[in-house]
Amino acid sequence: MAIEELPLPVSAAAVVVHGKDDLRIDQVPLREPRADEAVIEIAYGGICGSDLHYWLHGAAGESILKDPMVLGHEVVGVVARAAADGTGPEVGTPVAVHPATPGPGAARYPADRPNLSPGCTYLGSAARHPHTDGAFLRYANLPTRMLRVLPESLPLRLAALIEPASVAWHGVSRAGDVRGKSVLVVGCGPIGTLAIAVLKRAGASHITAVDMHQLPLDIAASVGADVVLLAPEAERIAAIEADVVIESSGNHFGLGTAINGATRGGRVVMVGLLPSGVQPVAISLAITRELELLGSFRFNEEIAEVIAALADGSLFVEPVITHEFALNDALVAFDMAKNSAQSGKVLLNFAD
Ligand SMILES: [Zn+2]
Repeated sequence: MAIEELPLPVSAAAVVVHGKDDLRIDQVPLREPRADEAVIEIAYGGICGSDLHYWLHGAAGESILKDPMVLGHEVVGVVARAAADGTGPEVGTPVAVHPATPGPGAARYPADRPNLSPGCTYLGSAARHPHTDGAFLRYANLPTRMLRVLPESLPLRLAALIEPASVAWHGVSRAGDVRGKSVLVVGCGPIGTLAIAVLKRAGASHITAVDMHQLPLDIAASVGADVVLLAPEAERIAAIEADVVIESSGNHFGLGTAINGATRGGRVVMVGLLPSGVQPVAISLAITRELELLGSFRFNEEIAEVIAALADGSLFVEPVITHEFALNDALVAFDMAKNSAQSGKVLLNFAD
């Protein structure tokens, strides 16, 4: 049954960061979509660490905010108007969003890893100037190549985890085959706990999770961690001797813990984004233990595997979502999201 295309409003409420400590809900004008763009009625958006960094520091890693920017890249919704060029899904189709646009000149770089292409842009990112606006707004114009059709059976609320789960999936895949391996996950924010769920599904034999707070550890246990450790001593960490370590805290203490917890010849995947600049990390063990230190950045087409695994129920991530706020309460939502002792993934509900 064809769903009628309703006339769209001329403006929409959006979550806009104007600078450090300056987050607002603005009414932004909606431009006419380009031919290859569909208009998506956003249903849910997850607040990411990078959104928090732009708000709290006016920067995320190397990306420094110079102009006001609409935040948000972890969004799902329903097609409100199909693209004029006939590409992409029709009105009424539920979709997830792949927020990356690979850069053009990638000849020197691995062609199968577009996440590494120079000039790659991302929704809600100040990496380039002019900035790339995000999709924390009621109606977003998005190119159809970013859209991934969702099975009707997958609730949109759960689907809001697709983007961060893809980051976690990519990180775990960087570790190679984890079947039968012991794994240590350092930092149990949303990426860490989603990584635990992915590791569990991928057949890791034993998962230890470490965090500074109890709530993230409770979530870690509920999605598959076998042992959880609250701010453990260094000797305790050294005794873990994990085959694989996922560093998802994004701070230098966490990276030190990750190196200390890896077994001889082990592999450490660094998923958490460290602040830019020099980081004090006791790294000599990485040499004497012949550790493999691997970076992990965003994701590529793993998003299709994540959607399939969420739809068939083999990837269990429900407990990672701890809060949901209406768009009007976005400032309260951001406050909750920055409180890692009290929240996992915090969602904005744009329909409310
Ligand atoms: Zn994110």
